[in-house]
Amino acid sequence: MAQPPPDVSEDECLPEYRHRFCPDLLRDKVAFITGGGSGIGFRIAEIFMRHGCHTVIASRSLPRVSKAARKLAAATGQRCLPLSLDVRALPAVTAAVDQALREFGKIDILVNCAAGNFLCPASALSFNAFKTVMDIDTLGTFNASRVLYEKFFRDHGGVIVNITATLGTRGQVLQVHAGSAKAAVDAMTRHLAVEWGPQNIRVNSLAPGPISGTEGFRRLVTSQASVGTKTLAIPLQRLGNKTEVAHGALFLASPLASYVTGAVLVVDGGAWLTFPNDLKLLADFASFSAKL
Ligand code: NAP
Repeated sequence: MAQPPPDVSEDECLPEYRHRFCPDLLRDKVAFITGGGSGIGFRIAEIFMRHGCHTVIASRSLPRVSKAARKLAAATGQRCLPLSLDVRALPAVTAAVDQALREFGKIDILVNCAAGNFLCPASALSFNAFKTVMDIDTLGTFNASRVLYEKFFRDHGGVIVNITATLGTRGQVLQVHAGSAKAAVDAMTRHLAVEWGPQNIRVNSLAPGPISGTEGFRRLVTSQASVGTKTLAIPLQRLGNKTEVAHGALFLASPLASYVTGAVLVVDGGAWLTFPNDLKLLADFASFSAKL
């Protein structure tokens, strides 16, 4: 069986990536990545940059994206512009896209990776918590996509990769907020692929499963150290890593996927097919961040 590609658990760059793969797929492209300062978004930025891309990484915390940008530029030799924005705030999204266009003169790829999540039973979920997740994940994805369309993609074409999840596919317990928000984004992927395809804009979703070394999954593991891949019943018998997710995003963003649009690429080791939808088991994982 093929070995998974290398990964590190923290937001650090990969040693020796260049020796294992042939980086050239995104030579001289520019990618705008929301949520690019941590976790999966950070690794997507790194893999894109190792394939010749320049990046803009944007999230609410300027110190976070600035630190990440320094690491990414030093490790890859590509340019990385850190910007502060809240994807819910249209003026901030517009200003960030304007600044990125001034800096690079173009944007070829948009990755909508910013999101908020936690585990909570629907009965205990505050109305505001539900709205907050919908606002960040769904409205935020539309805001960035619509602004990029107007400012650049409409006239030049482009690629959008929406990072979603499989939560809504089977109706995962404790995840009505994130499952609903991500299912709406998958629908948005299909609508925009159809509407914007004639303008040479490809729009796809990438749905990761449980991914090690991420904030999302760390919360589960620290609250129940015994959670194992057997417990999670993943067909490939292990968690995924961020590099594997980033390789999926690389495929969708690159010319390798030139005839792929409106698709949802699931990168989860088959987990959504078998994940135990066991309220009793998962209730122990419920975080207390539901009071958003
Ligand atoms: P993460 O490190 O917490 O990444 C989320 C990022 O979004 C952070 O960098 C955060 O930065 C940014 N963000 C949050 N709210 C924002 C806002 N309002 N405006 C702008 N940026 C905002 O989590 P992750 O686990 O790597 O998840 C990355 C993506 O993968 C998410 O879309 C998530 O739903 C998806 N996913 C993850 C898993 C998993 O196992 N980890 C599984 C399925 C799907 P700031 O705090 O600085 O804003």
